[in-house]
Amino acid sequence: MVKKNLIGGAWIDAADPIENRNPANPQDLIGLFTRGNAETVDLAVSAARDAFPAWSVASPQLRADILDKAGNLILARKDEIGRVLAREEGKTLAEAVGETVRAGHVFKFFAGEALRMTGDAIASIRQDVDVDVTREPLGVVGLITPWNFPIAIPAWKTAPALAFGNTVVLKCAEQTPASAHLMAEILDEAGCPPGVFNLVMGPGSVIGSALVDHPDVAAISFTGSEAVGQRIAEGCARRRKKLQLEMGGKNPMVVMEDADLDIAVSACINGAFYSTGQRCTASSRLIVHRAIHDAFVDRMEAAMSALILGDPLDPSTQIGPVVSEGQLRGNLGYVDLARKEGAQVIGGAQLQRAGFFQAPALFIGATNDMRSSREEIFGPCASVIMADDFEHAVQLSNDTQFGLSSGICTGSLKYARDFKRRSAAGMVMINLPTAGVDYHVPFGGRKASSMGSREQGRYAVDFYTSVKTAYCFAG
Ligand code: NAD
Repeated sequence: MVKKNLIGGAWIDAADPIENRNPANPQDLIGLFTRGNAETVDLAVSAARDAFPAWSVASPQLRADILDKAGNLILARKDEIGRVLAREEGKTLAEAVGETVRAGHVFKFFAGEALRMTGDAIASIRQDVDVDVTREPLGVVGLITPWNFPIAIPAWKTAPALAFGNTVVLKCAEQTPASAHLMAEILDEAGCPPGVFNLVMGPGSVIGSALVDHPDVAAISFTGSEAVGQRIAEGCARRRKKLQLEMGGKNPMVVMEDADLDIAVSACINGAFYSTGQRCTASSRLIVHRAIHDAFVDRMEAAMSALILGDPLDPSTQIGPVVSEGQLRGNLGYVDLARKEGAQVIGGAQLQRAGFFQAPALFIGATNDMRSSREEIFGPCASVIMADDFEHAVQLSNDTQFGLSSGICTGSLKYARDFKRRSAAGMVMINLPTAGVDYHVPFGGRKASSMGSREQGRYAVDFYTSVKTAYCFAG
């Protein structure tokens, strides 16, 4: 049966469904998902616009109860949802269940935030005048999400949007609609009033751009590639829409001469290769001090050869497949490019089995000016770049168009403190992988990685509300 869009509280079909297949085993059809179009977007935006007046003034208790219930339902079904997520995206079952738990926690966190909407009362410079500052919802918000966190990212956009009184049209990635569809079913079951949350599935070029262009959509929150983000930014600028973009990364992990190599190798293996390297925060540039470079590379090679690649549903698997054939071809192209650019490549080949499997790859002897060190690959590939000293390592780590996450492995408080201050990234990790973050604190980057205010934690309120300053003279 074809899975349908959720519009105005009804499940609505469109034509020409899209097949959702398992990247570990393309014979495994997860389901057929309806393909929306510009008219479907129009219906969903109308439903969200009609639902906004009541939802925007609904009791925060009602909003909190619905979000909390949705969080509980996600947590109660974490194994089932995690299994679907692993089948459609290819991350391991443990990672997929972990992502689902994160989504559940995000809903419960924002259930609490719905009750904690605060403002300011500020003394006026004028006699007998009161000034207060309050936050109000924006209206209909369009949420556009990528395939690599198919339930966590829809959750961390939807939950704050609803908590603060907005209504939502979510457009999930066409490669991974099943997890977002389950989230939509759960929001419906949790009692979300008709039109408050709407899901429209289908191709980004049609659905995503119809949302960006729609005059009744007040704001867009997008996570995805830099190229698409740029187009969305241009569309939103033309229509003066509020915008939040979370995009790519080329995240540096510095390994200093005084690092504990067990910690460093474990952080680099995790940061570069877990989730098949398909994380915007993946450690794709390993910047290693000259004094320990060879020892580090030997340890990395040994650790890489022990990694277990295989079916994400097998509990022993550590690395699953790449999400799609197109992504695999792109990754293999970068492996060839790194070799042509002069790096020595370890691993990186396609596995001779069904599905889109690729061995993790290290590009040794890479330099920071190679294209393979500058462009986001979004696969299990990392460049190893040698640094002469700490200053050189800081300079290399900041020499990138991106600025999402960065890390340093060191035993020195001085290096750690200095790196934390000087790293031009939105998130900095000390002796931890560049990927892997808490759900209740701000997430986001700088430069070409992000635009607009932060997602997640208490900072999410800045995007999903508009501030009003009111002056009152009682006479
Ligand atoms: P993508 O940009 O191809 O697609 C993202 C979403 O945009 C999808 O839903 C897609 O359908 C939609 N889209 C495509 N064309 C569109 C258009 N013209 N107008 C509007 N919407 C359109 O990205 P992807 O391949 O799904 O995801 C991988 C990218 O996401 C990587 O670059 C990764 O770094 C990034 N990412 C960033 C973060 C972060 O928080 N910074 C998190 C996860 C992923």
